[in-house]
Amino acid sequence: MAKHVDKADPVAAPELRFGGVWQYEPAPETTDHCAIAARYQLYIGGQWTKPRSGEYLATIDPATERPLSEVALAGDRDVDAAVKAAQKAFPAWRARSGEDRARYLFRIARILLERAREFAVLETLDNGKPIKETRDVDVPLAAQHFFYHAGWADKLDLLFPGQRPQPLGVIGQVIPWNFPLLMAAWKIAPALAAGNTVVLKPAETSPLTALRLCEVFEQAGLPPGVANVVTGDGRTGAALVRHPGLAKVAFTGSTEVGKEIQRAVAGRGVELTLELGGKAAHLVFEDAALDQAVEGVVRGIFFNQGHVCCAGSRLLVQESVHDLFVDKLRRRMGRIRVGPPLDKNTDMGAIHSQAQLARIRELVAAGVDEGARLHQTACDLPAKGFWFPPSMFTGVSMSHRIAREEIFGPVLSVLTFRTPEEAVEKANNTSYGLSAGIWTDKGARVLWLAARMQAGVVWNNTFNRFDAASPFGGYKESGFGREGGRQGLRAYVRLAGGLSPG
Ligand code: NAP
Ligand code: MG
Repeated sequence: MAKHVDKADPVAAPELRFGGVWQYEPAPETTDHCAIAARYQLYIGGQWTKPRSGEYLATIDPATERPLSEVALAGDRDVDAAVKAAQKAFPAWRARSGEDRARYLFRIARILLERAREFAVLETLDNGKPIKETRDVDVPLAAQHFFYHAGWADKLDLLFPGQRPQPLGVIGQVIPWNFPLLMAAWKIAPALAAGNTVVLKPAETSPLTALRLCEVFEQAGLPPGVANVVTGDGRTGAALVRHPGLAKVAFTGSTEVGKEIQRAVAGRGVELTLELGGKAAHLVFEDAALDQAVEGVVRGIFFNQGHVCCAGSRLLVQESVHDLFVDKLRRRMGRIRVGPPLDKNTDMGAIHSQAQLARIRELVAAGVDEGARLHQTACDLPAKGFWFPPSMFTGVSMSHRIAREEIFGPVLSVLTFRTPEEAVEKANNTSYGLSAGIWTDKGARVLWLAARMQAGVVWNNTFNRFDAASPFGGYKESGFGREGGRQGLRAYVRLAGGLSPG
């Protein structure tokens, strides 16, 4: 089969490329705002607690491979201590009035905003994502989740009228590395608002903002044991979900680990919600505002280096505008600035880890082998750190691995369709069902398509927009349960039912 690799993209004019000498010198004023300790302990029962094993794991800056800090590796006994602390705190926390719990959540939200800059810098350093995104998206949205759920804490009876909503107990929460602070907020805010207590396990490679959030809990005076954070690796997550003291497990991560967790909790009477992977279809019709659609497609796949579960990774373009649209897209890709994550002009930062970079490279090589045509933006990428240029495959068919598997990187696969029926068929021809996007001028068509797309979120003439009031979650192998909005809170309460309101 013919192999097409179009690296020196002629469309990307030199002046549009990111170029020059690449230097990594974070501005001193930004790092000053974000002191990082050499070592962090576990946050259990309101105390910074050493792990029983005495073992620690390094976390690095993926843009430079520089070690940032060491975090404790929690084993079974540490996890047990955290669950016991959460169990001990539960009766008093659930007994507080909703208004009282709201006060703590409002305080947490306000402190997060006061310390926004520090959180944005820390997240950028630990994760590799651009400061523009942590500043404008991750941190404000995390605070929004605490504000939003604070608003519901004393109104749960109105939300579930006559159903006497009760908290479940101790919730075990496991989150991934792609939105470390935001995922912590998505998990902790609704659980606490509903009167539960939690044990959260952040990802091994991005634990620092969840640990700093514990400082915010202390500052807000949150009672000890209401929120506990145990760092570690996959073994720590496995120990947590196995723990018999949990009433519910809430997991965000890969479909593979999600299935393992489903097996681990089966038959134990433990509630479970799973937010897993995705392979979103992003549809562009010939009548769409194409220049706006280009911006949406770029945001859809290159936001957060494509490390986004709901990334618009499968672009389906109507055949009549395919060539024109791809041409516009290639020009626009040439203007994406890949570079130092702490530089506020950077559009795309570092790939999060060596392992993720290897996965992206493997799938891109598979795409080339299978005969798709690769277009890559020419960038001067530094020798140190983990980097991958904005990439797009054209000539992709549904059977290609790059059309079926989640790449979780800045790689777009472009396919075509002729009719709306064919678009729906192709969009749904995936084992995932997390999100989708539709660009068209016709409102009736949007409604027709949205009703037929098997996706938890369907964006119209926009993409990758999030709001605490809007439920988020998947179908099929993208998981089950919703986070955010009223539906998200439903997963954190038991409804007794049977009573009429008042
Ligand atoms: P992952 O490998 O599944 O890890 C997710 C979390 O689970 C991490 O904290 C991980 O710990 C932990 N873990 C690993 N093995 C475990 C086990 N056997 N039992 C319990 N916990 C375990 O996923 P990832 O690579 O971090 O994240 C990328 C994936 O997350 C992608 O597939 C993406 O689509 C998905 N995601 C989904 C959503 C959504 O809302 N649907 C949002 C974001 C990401 P360590 O990291 O310490 O190993
Ligand atoms: Mg890191």
